[in-house]
Amino acid sequence: METNQKIIEKIDMLKSNLGAKKVKALQIYRLENILNKLTQYSDGCSECKYLLSIFESQLLNNLDCIDKSHLKNYMITLKKIISHLHKKHKLITAGHYIGIYMSMGTSLGMLCGMVIGLISNKGEFQSIGMSLGMCFGMSIGILIGTIKDSNAKKKGNVI
Ligand SMILES: [Zn+2]
Repeated sequence: METNQKIIEKIDMLKSNLGAKKVKALQIYRLENILNKLTQYSDGCSECKYLLSIFESQLLNNLDCIDKSHLKNYMITLKKIISHLHKKHKLITAGHYIGIYMSMGTSLGMLCGMVIGLISNKGEFQSIGMSLGMCFGMSIGILIGTIKDSNAKKKGNVI
């Protein structure tokens, strides 16, 4: 935990030194949360233990004088960590469910609207049914996705 405190201080320093644009591009604001999750799982998961061990050296070092090749490595390491947390520990990124449910709702709504439009009035309402169904399905999808996302956030499953 003591070393974590040191790393968090380093992250905070980077946040103030790099400027808002770089902090956003490098997703620095996610690092503390990711670090906490890795620490939490590292007792029972050797991959997390390994990722935790490279966290500081691969992600945080030299970030203040970042060049292209370092940036590439940084992004690869960050992606690797996030994808492990996602696959193995079922953590999700912000807006995960909205994306899924919105596209699912849109296509389902479109399909239902098309079918209803087709069977009613000899297909005259097919296109109206499709667009209405699409809007309806998309709204429902966004609604369900938002609820699921906020539940996941409450449970601390978002990184
Ligand atoms: Zn793990």
